[in-house]
Amino acid sequence: MSRTPVRCIVLTCDSCGTRTSSEREADYYPSLAHARADGWETADGSDLCISCADEHRCEREPGGHDWAPWSAASGAGRYRSRECRRCAKEQTAAVLSLVVA
Ligand SMILES: [Zn+2]
Ligand SMILES: [Zn+2]
Repeated sequence: MSRTPVRCIVLTCDSCGTRTSSEREADYYPSLAHARADGWETADGSDLCISCADEHRCEREPGGHDWAPWSAASGAGRYRSRECRRCAKEQTAAVLSLVVA
């Protein structure tokens, strides 16, 4: 019988809280290098998953995110949304309705 204890690393995204960044079923990596190869990045002292790393990079482009126009307000929630054309980050905002007394 041969037993070898191994170390692994579990990263939690400091931006969205996810622990998995890809289609992997496990949320641990044998090493930080493996996590990096899977898309994890460290920026400004935070660990970022692949989608947050994308957003972070996009935010730092000159002019920031490349927002598409706001969608029309929809549904009972009266929210509208827009999406960045580069990184697909989504932003939602409540639509204020004026109440005329
Ligand atoms: Zn994230
Ligand atoms: Zn973006």
